[in-house]
Amino acid sequence: MRRLFPFIFAILAGATLLGGCESTTAGGATGLSRSQFLLVSSAAVNEGAAKAYTREMVKAHSAKALNTDVAQTSRVNSITQRLIAQVGVFRPDAVDWDWEINVIEDKSINAYCMPGGKMVIYTGIIEQLKLTDDELAAIIGHEMAHALREHSREQISRQVATNHLITIGSIFLGLGSVSQNVAGIASELVLALPFSRSMEFEADTMGVELMARAGFDPNAAVSVWKKMNALNEGRSTATTFLSTHPSDAARVTNLQNQLPAVMPLYEEAGQKGFPEQAAAAPLQTAVPEVQTDRRAARPQGARARVRAAGR
Ligand SMILES: [Zn+2]
Repeated sequence: MRRLFPFIFAILAGATLLGGCESTTAGGATGLSRSQFLLVSSAAVNEGAAKAYTREMVKAHSAKALNTDVAQTSRVNSITQRLIAQVGVFRPDAVDWDWEINVIEDKSINAYCMPGGKMVIYTGIIEQLKLTDDELAAIIGHEMAHALREHSREQISRQVATNHLITIGSIFLGLGSVSQNVAGIASELVLALPFSRSMEFEADTMGVELMARAGFDPNAAVSVWKKMNALNEGRSTATTFLSTHPSDAARVTNLQNQLPAVMPLYEEAGQKGFPEQAAAAPLQTAVPEVQTDRRAARPQGARARVRAAGR
């Protein structure tokens, strides 16, 4: 046991030196805050995630499953752009992230946002849950919140620390190979590490504020989980999404508890309106080879580069 002390001390000291024990985001209207264990750098994690994302996009493209439904892709893109425009409230640097969302034709009930803002939504979740625009915004907002809070970076930091994947000494010395190692680890683990329950609550809380600020009805964040539960009843195994996102009374209660703080934001957003935003943003395809037909390629892709509206 005593042998562990120097190691644990080194991790904690390293995390402190690297600015590790802090909250990645501002609290917003709900006041969300938690000290986070961040041993590895955002840059390395995001680099690894971008590689993993490209792999997934190439796979989907090869299967002819990438952004196949132009209308669906445009709808997802417009909703996402409105959400992205609100991220500056929580962290100003996220305004300039290379946000991207692509729709994969697949029956799976699934959606995710990788570190750095690389998102995927499966047609299965949209179609089987018959998602309204508000409910779609609830799902995407939740996933974006995971990225804004850098939950994957936290999970990877824990993996690195507990499995001694990188020597603490090399982190202290700032060796160049360290970030490459972290990027490699992130690339492999980013889709494999489930989030903790407290991270799920955080993503719900921040997600419901994001959607309210973007003018989507926050009550849909509650209704979508009820739909998810109903869909899951009678199945022998939970859907992909529900296995990592248990939908229980505690989740619904947490979301309902946020409504008094976020409903005024929703009402304010409704008065302002969001007419031009979606139409103004440029769209590109995720995989360059898809752009053989330039007329078709433009709406098929879903890279969203939008400047956030700020606070
Ligand atoms: Zn989640």
